[in-house]
Amino acid sequence: MMTRAYIGLGSNLDTPLSQLRSALKALAALPDTTLVSQSSFYASDPLGPADQPRYVNAVAALDTALSPLTLLDALQAIELEQGRTRKAERWGPRTLDLDILLYGEQQLDEPRLRVPHYHMHARAFVLYPLAEIAPQLNLPDGRALTELLNACPFVGLERVTETQCC
Ligand code: ATP
Ligand code: CA
Ligand code: CA
Ligand code: CA
Repeated sequence: MMTRAYIGLGSNLDTPLSQLRSALKALAALPDTTLVSQSSFYASDPLGPADQPRYVNAVAALDTALSPLTLLDALQAIELEQGRTRKAERWGPRTLDLDILLYGEQQLDEPRLRVPHYHMHARAFVLYPLAEIAPQLNLPDGRALTELLNACPFVGLERVTETQCC
């Protein structure tokens, strides 16, 4: 049984665009998982501390037979592979952040994993790339992605190409 999952990718350290490219390769290489599609890359203003570089973000669609927590373990292993260190400061700079945005229609509220991602509905750098690869998507609570987009202006965000980017 494969489940469609959406992963949010972000990086603002050590050549973010190449971090995201490596992460996409690592996602494609996960066992029992297929990388179905990926969005364009977007530069975005950081959340939290403003004295850090802008982020590069993207969203990927996976079909996976991994359970949600096994997928989370795998994503955290990829973060560590790519040099992520955990600091006290929330939302501080990082080489790679991989969040599970959606896992099929499931709603999970566990200490290690909340799905849908608790704040995806308010993040332009999540919603716009997600809409590129899944324009017709509905959330498990029935809200349409288009509804969320209407409430979330395209602010602090720009689509980037390789030549413009870090
Ligand atoms: P935010 O969650 O606001 O995007 P962040 O991505 O910077 O912030 P992290 O430090 O990367 O937060 O993650 C903290 C913890 O969040 C992780 O150790 C993980 O167990 C937990 N977590 C809960 N829900 C999710 C999810 N949907 N995807 C990834 N991690 C999650
Ligand atoms: Ca694979
Ligand atoms: Ca995050
Ligand atoms: Ca995270």
